[in-house]
Amino acid sequence: MERRLALKCTKCNILYEFEVERKLCERCGCGLTVETGTPAAFRENVGGQGIWRYAQLFPYVSREFHFSLGEGNTCLIESARLRRELGVQGLWFKNETTEPTGSYFDRCSALFVSLIKSLGYERIVTYSTGNLAASLAAYSSRIGLKLHINVKPMVDVGKLYQMILYGAKVNVIQDFSKTRISMGDALAIEHDPIINEAKKTILLEVFLQLGRRLPEYIILPMGEGGLAYFTYKMLIELKKIFGDGGLKTKIVGVQPRGCAPIVEAYERGFDDVLSDTRFFTKIFDLSVSRPKYGSAALKAIRDTGGCAVSVSEEECYRALSMLAEMEGILAEPAASLSLAGLMKLRKSGGIGDDATVVCIITGGGLKDPKIMKDIACRKSDAVILLEELGVDVKMGKTKRAILELLSEEDMYGYQIWRSLREKYGISMKIPSVYQHLSQLIEMGFVRKTFSKNVLGRRREYYSLTDKGRIAI
Ligand SMILES: [Zn+2]
Repeated sequence: MERRLALKCTKCNILYEFEVERKLCERCGCGLTVETGTPAAFRENVGGQGIWRYAQLFPYVSREFHFSLGEGNTCLIESARLRRELGVQGLWFKNETTEPTGSYFDRCSALFVSLIKSLGYERIVTYSTGNLAASLAAYSSRIGLKLHINVKPMVDVGKLYQMILYGAKVNVIQDFSKTRISMGDALAIEHDPIINEAKKTILLEVFLQLGRRLPEYIILPMGEGGLAYFTYKMLIELKKIFGDGGLKTKIVGVQPRGCAPIVEAYERGFDDVLSDTRFFTKIFDLSVSRPKYGSAALKAIRDTGGCAVSVSEEECYRALSMLAEMEGILAEPAASLSLAGLMKLRKSGGIGDDATVVCIITGGGLKDPKIMKDIACRKSDAVILLEELGVDVKMGKTKRAILELLSEEDMYGYQIWRSLREKYGISMKIPSVYQHLSQLIEMGFVRKTFSKNVLGRRREYYSLTDKGRIAI
């Protein structure tokens, strides 16, 4: 039965009548949430496909418009190897990499696009850093809606190919605020309340998959902050439906250090997220300097007794590698943040040995071939393999400079160290030079040729191999 919808501000609680066009609170500029009323009992729609199994928890959409590509119901993978490595009692990964387009946004697209179609819209306009647009493209083509996408020049090419192949019209613009909406268009953006409502289903599935229990911690990445807040919203609804007893889980939000306004506000004890944070991170999906659900995410974290942490790109890439090597899950960098956050909190003692933890892995790594290549190239044997296959393996500035020096003459370590400084302005400690040399030897570009004693000291000389010559 149709329920009357209202939108409520996640910060100042003002109520608005539901309109697709309304995205933010007029008074405070924060994100909104749909008020549908919590049902008294949970009834899974057993015949429903994808997220429509949980139709009861969404704004009403007539059954004939329940479109799906089989999103949701992803595996909750119990970790054995990383759990032992990190020394926690229980660890699971909610693996969203297996969604139809490879990200958790498929849950959102299914709900948004179905609702929009049921309301008679014919075209969707979106601007996105990648995953949402790629997902909307698939669902729009499934339903037969036109989709116009604006992306920024630094969009991940894997996601761009998805948008094109699903048949969307793609434009590159520098400034999303210049997106033009015509009469009859529905705007789909990451801080849309309907799009975010579908994120609730992740916690609901975790709850069902763990036998109607929740872990002590649920760890998730944050950009706009929507996943943190709507996970919290589901937690509240679950408590209303099933009672408060035992339903406790602490929400932990993780941001990349280069763009962490929510973490900054958390650490400084603020209720509001500062909007003028300067940011720089290669984790483009989470580069949100003014998160619309920032205050809401802070509330979710504080009310549940969780915390917010930031991690460096290096910590994120390390987590990505470990997740792939030890659990068989290939996540994209943004999705690896939850594990990186857990690793950091284990090290600092923020999460104890007896904890049970679910990390949400929001999207798959194949969408970002550039970062996959960069991480693969950190493995010396992979560099040699890629070279043999003719892949352009770009070397760092220092290694290239060492190869250039050795192309002129054979040199010993101290001599290389001095020449790097004098000829290339590269200043570093001598042990670092030897580390680069040993990596170049592993890569097959350099070899030790001879050594001689000079004034009682032994000098080892290095020279280029044929492969090294070809490489430069
Ligand atoms: Zn407000």
